[in-house]
Amino acid sequence: MRQSVGFLAVFLYLKIACLNLVASSDRLKLSWPTPNQAFVNGLGYHAFLQKTGPGKDFSSGAFGCVRNNGNKFHEGIDLSPLKSSSSGKAEDHVYAAMDGIVKYVNLNASSSAYGKYIVIEHEKFSPTLYTLYGHLEAVSFGLKSGSAVKVAQQIGLMGNTASYKIPLNRSHLHFELGIRLSDQFSNWYNRQMFKTKNDHGNFNGYNLAGIDPLLFYSSFQKDRFNHPAEYLESLPVILKILVPYQRVPDLLRRNPSLSSTYSNNGNYKGWECWIGPYGIPLKFEASTTVPSNNSLRIIEYNEKHDGNNCRKLIVKKNGRLQPSELLKTYLEIIFVE
Ligand SMILES: [Zn+2]
Repeated sequence: MRQSVGFLAVFLYLKIACLNLVASSDRLKLSWPTPNQAFVNGLGYHAFLQKTGPGKDFSSGAFGCVRNNGNKFHEGIDLSPLKSSSSGKAEDHVYAAMDGIVKYVNLNASSSAYGKYIVIEHEKFSPTLYTLYGHLEAVSFGLKSGSAVKVAQQIGLMGNTASYKIPLNRSHLHFELGIRLSDQFSNWYNRQMFKTKNDHGNFNGYNLAGIDPLLFYSSFQKDRFNHPAEYLESLPVILKILVPYQRVPDLLRRNPSLSSTYSNNGNYKGWECWIGPYGIPLKFEASTTVPSNNSLRIIEYNEKHDGNNCRKLIVKKNGRLQPSELLKTYLEIIFVE
């Protein structure tokens, strides 16, 4: 009996050790995209963000409604260099935030407000996250669409490239983290009356719905999540809206974790969409009913959390709540015809 208890203890110990091994190796691996560890070490904005001008606050380099007195959205963070030459040229390397596959490299600096930029797809977990690295001086040799990269691998050099002028002494990395809305983005874009041509296919920044990288990193650092899906679950639901649509949006085919009611052979009438801060899609459930006039219907609205003046998802018109132009555009891109 004594011996079998001992056996059991060893067996249980091994089993628990194995479980721990699985749990820790299964956790997302995350790296800060530049050598500056100030944020990770708990320092303030001044220690790692690039402000938009000499008289501006450091918060102008943060994510959110931080530009033009809170009226203009910045869908990423601007990271300042640790090292610069005497002329102000940044010398910092740029690193992949997570394991992934390079999906897009733009080397034509004048064709995008991001200048030279890279988009990496992080497909190991669902939903698939994307990171974008903008204003690069150079992309690491040999890196091209399809290249596999490891977390913290060097992918380029910080710079100031853009379709507009960024002074050398304001060189920075523009870093975005988000979800790609659609595979059909180019079709949607070409039908609009935009003045500028889309040279970047599905990797136009407009097709990425951004989340705040600083909240994501700090939450990860505090062990509040292991996988991106858990992080999205922790975000507040700003609204639920019913969209009449009889097919399955490719967003769900690519990210099955965003829906518990999606199957390939479903007979769909519409989708109830849960939308988080700044328009990030959180959840989609199949609906058996659609509104009688076959248009969007707001089911729930959490006004308290929709407090971002430059990026309201719901607006009031003639005393009635209506989807904002931004929300309508996002839904149009996701549920493209
Ligand atoms: Zn930026």
